[in-house]
Amino acid sequence: MKFLLLSLCALLTLSLSFELMAMPTLTVADRQIAITIDDLPAAASSAMTGAAIVQMTAKLLAALQQERVPAVGFVNERKLYHKWGEVDERIGALNQWLDAGFELGNHTFGHTSLNQVGLKEFEESVIQGETVTRLLMAQHGKKLRYFRHPYLDTGRDLQTRREVEAFLVSRGFRIAPVTMDAWDWNFAGVYDDAKKRDDKALQQEVVSNYLSYHTAVFDYFEKLSKDLLGYEPRQILLLHANNLEADHIRELIELLRKRGYRFITLEEALSDGAYGLPDTYVGEEGRGWIEHWAITMGRPPRGAPVFPESIGDRAKLLPHPQP
Ligand SMILES: [Zn+2]
Repeated sequence: MKFLLLSLCALLTLSLSFELMAMPTLTVADRQIAITIDDLPAAASSAMTGAAIVQMTAKLLAALQQERVPAVGFVNERKLYHKWGEVDERIGALNQWLDAGFELGNHTFGHTSLNQVGLKEFEESVIQGETVTRLLMAQHGKKLRYFRHPYLDTGRDLQTRREVEAFLVSRGFRIAPVTMDAWDWNFAGVYDDAKKRDDKALQQEVVSNYLSYHTAVFDYFEKLSKDLLGYEPRQILLLHANNLEADHIRELIELLRKRGYRFITLEEALSDGAYGLPDTYVGEEGRGWIEHWAITMGRPPRGAPVFPESIGDRAKLLPHPQP
């Protein structure tokens, strides 16, 4: 009996030491990412009541707070005025962000594309886009400091791009680039529609595609980062203020944690040297910054994952709310 016990002990010790030896291979990479959420107070604000926006915002922010994930929310102030009689509620939704300790940035008044309007109109949309936000930020002891280009459209020619950059700097803004983007907005419309019709199976299908497409996009940009820069910079993820994120951002956060990501502030992300790399990208199509760098280096990227067709087809059939 004693021998048996000793053998068992030896066996346990042996298996334990094997496990310890195997541990280094289980260690995941140390990755960092900042979360940014666009189109506040709500991407589909013209289709939502003020009360629904407040509720969605509370759920989204509670998830971020409980997960200890910092975020910057980018505002389109035109969305505050979509429904008269609800302006206070919509401004209240912006205050929810600030009361919870998050930061806000400018995303122009009317979600204006720099590729679609002239310089003057774009600059006016920037100025008009910060009236309320700047005031709310000041009330919370904060200074408005980040700007995000709608559609990631940074200009169709280099002169326009640079003039707008100089204009933004003169107004005290730092441009908030994006490196990871899995088009959550395109899932969100289909999700809202499924929710409205109480189609649980479709909601589940959307969520599962949303998570698997994010995985494909992370794989793609992590590899592209390494190929291009020799390392993975502190990434910046683009998401949007919608019900899909409010209901499921925790699953996305868990997915990122499993890949070895730590969540950092936008300020911390921007301290990465990659954001100072030469970037002369211009084009009709708004793109993420890793692709900007690749194109600038004369190495246009290939093999970007394709958006899930089943969701894309459904999204095309939906009425498109005003951005
Ligand atoms: Zn946007």
